[in-house]
Amino acid sequence: MAWSREETIGRDEMRQIQLGRLQKAVADVYGKNAVYRKWLDEAGVKPGDIKSLDDIRRLPFTTKQHIRDQYPFGLFSASMEDIVEFHATSGTTGKPVVVPYTRNDIELWTEVMARTCAAAGITKNDIVQNIYGYGLFTGGLGTHYGAIRVGATVVPMSGGNSQRQIMLMQDFGSTAVASTPSFLMHLHEVGEQMGVDFKKLKLKTGLFGAEPWSDSMRQAIQEKFGLKACDLYGLTEMIGPGVSFECHEVRDGLHINEDFFYPEVIHPESCESLPYGEEGELVLTTIGKEGMPLLRYRTRDITRLRHGVCPCGRTLVKMERISGRTDDMLIIRGVNFFPSQIEAIILKRQGVSPHYMVVVDRQGSMDEVEVRIEVTEEFMAKAGADVLKGSEKEILKDVQLARQKIENLKRDIKDLIGITAKVTLVPPGTVPRSEGKAKRVEDRRPKGIRTGRP
Ligand SMILES: [Zn+2]
Repeated sequence: MAWSREETIGRDEMRQIQLGRLQKAVADVYGKNAVYRKWLDEAGVKPGDIKSLDDIRRLPFTTKQHIRDQYPFGLFSASMEDIVEFHATSGTTGKPVVVPYTRNDIELWTEVMARTCAAAGITKNDIVQNIYGYGLFTGGLGTHYGAIRVGATVVPMSGGNSQRQIMLMQDFGSTAVASTPSFLMHLHEVGEQMGVDFKKLKLKTGLFGAEPWSDSMRQAIQEKFGLKACDLYGLTEMIGPGVSFECHEVRDGLHINEDFFYPEVIHPESCESLPYGEEGELVLTTIGKEGMPLLRYRTRDITRLRHGVCPCGRTLVKMERISGRTDDMLIIRGVNFFPSQIEAIILKRQGVSPHYMVVVDRQGSMDEVEVRIEVTEEFMAKAGADVLKGSEKEILKDVQLARQKIENLKRDIKDLIGITAKVTLVPPGTVPRSEGKAKRVEDRRPKGIRTGRP
């Protein structure tokens, strides 16, 4: 069941709401933020020029760099006395992006996250184990606010503490979990060593996001935990999680909270608007936020938009699951691909775990690709035991098996993206784990020849 009326209204009514809020958003930033006023003046647009939703194309884009250049408070449209909370990106590659929330922004966030929780089937009868980090990261508190609004019981675990997570999951009988997919897979490995059968736990649904993940990863999580894995999407610049969500009934595309985040898809290079159904970069405009409204923010996430009534009853436009980020897209010997494509291959093969890293380097004028994949604990334990036993025949078998795995993976990668990659099997636990976003790529090539991005 939908949480709010706006999730199921007709197209005309939605467009009316959007136009009113877009006009207000443009007037707000023009009137309240000197930087935006300058940008709009430079683009030759006045708030009164926005007469239809198509007029959004007249507005200039906002990029992450624009926000960084105004660090920390330059793009705020609210005064400090109206701001009640800050969040920020991790800022691993420089200064973080700081996002302010007014009381109304917190209310908006709670509303969109309540929709997200309700769509995943979470009700007041659920115990939600929230593994997203609490703090400046938006994942923890965003999920917290939404789960409380639907009346669920929140266990505010934050990340880390794998053994304690598993213990409380068992003892409290958590019925829902919110986590990055990679951390939950990590939890499964730890649990297996503790002899835990996750299928016997009470988990029935989960909210997963904060990193791109494949459908193969979804299947793996659903099988290992016996739950329905729902995707959610968001970004700190917009509000955090809560921009869009999957309904548990269908789990095919994410409903965008388009009454608060107006979506467009553009060609990432020409910046031209693309029609519904075409793949490109997602661009979002906040319509309803006060602290730091953003016009036409370039998310760098690749997706496509779809209209239509979902079998769940929602009419909110859908975006396909993120197939990659323009940032993560690798161009190797002229071929474009996303690390998530490699993930899908790995998950199909036995004996290797979903933890991997793509390392790209340049030897002379040639790009070299190495894919490092962890073998499973099981495989490692058997090989180790054979070595200790000194059984040459068994050791030889293990080596052959490992070689066979490498050859199969190489062939799969070559078939999929046409690149001959070096495949290296590494011991379990040696690929870095992250509780925020999984790092899948290490690009050691000089900056200019990577992807052409700044
Ligand atoms: Zn739906």
